[in-house]
Amino acid sequence: MLKSTIGWFIFSVLTGLCLGSVMNMVVYRLPALLLRDEQDADQAFNLFWPPSHCTRCGHRIRWYDNIPLFSWLTLLGRCRSCHEPIGWRYLFLELSLGMWGALCACLTSPGLSWAAFMLYGSWLLALAWIDYLHQLLPDLLTQSLLWMGLLWHLVDERVLLEDALVGAMAGYLTLALIYWLGRWRYGFEVMGCGDMKFLAALGAWLGWSALPSVLLLASLFTLTLALWQIVRKHAHRRSEFPFGPGLSLAGLVFLCYFVLL
Ligand SMILES: [Zn+2]
Repeated sequence: MLKSTIGWFIFSVLTGLCLGSVMNMVVYRLPALLLRDEQDADQAFNLFWPPSHCTRCGHRIRWYDNIPLFSWLTLLGRCRSCHEPIGWRYLFLELSLGMWGALCACLTSPGLSWAAFMLYGSWLLALAWIDYLHQLLPDLLTQSLLWMGLLWHLVDERVLLEDALVGAMAGYLTLALIYWLGRWRYGFEVMGCGDMKFLAALGAWLGWSALPSVLLLASLFTLTLALWQIVRKHAHRRSEFPFGPGLSLAGLVFLCYFVLL
């Protein structure tokens, strides 16, 4: 199964690190864009503007301080200007996508499937982080993920396009059913609409037959995370726990499983 040469492997890891840097920007800016007040809406702010800056002192981050992994390590995780910590989340996302790049280099040869897997991993990890931090799964990411999945099946026939279409519908309808049953039985929303769109996107990538296993693994992971937070007293039994990180982890595991089959 190992198809990588050293050059290809390094290229894939470096691409993963760069994607991690881009996704850090998305994780920080996209929720800020969606959640900002109406009075702030006039200020020029989008995914690419203003340029990268320290969120504490506003210092503009130069290109040499914006090199994935390298800059974080040379600055020891602190801003060059105010010396406040940058936050381990930035390093974690870059490292995770660097490792995903290493895995993709081992699983597949250079080509469109490799590019698709890299984008899939980037989208899933960004969604996991945004949901963990803000309990939000932006449509921009879930819906583009769904379309990417359907397009991928046009160039790669591991999953039939019909199975992917049924997967997208079944993913959405399964969680929509749970949502409406929960509202009817308990009178409140047991999950967000973003979870339905996210599972629809995973169904579009992995096909309908993967959905029961994806849901099971995602639930187990979410339960583990919830118990961990309750034990550490960061949450209590009635807290809301995001389902997105669990869905992301299950999605990553099942993509590898498909490729290895
Ligand atoms: Zn600073």
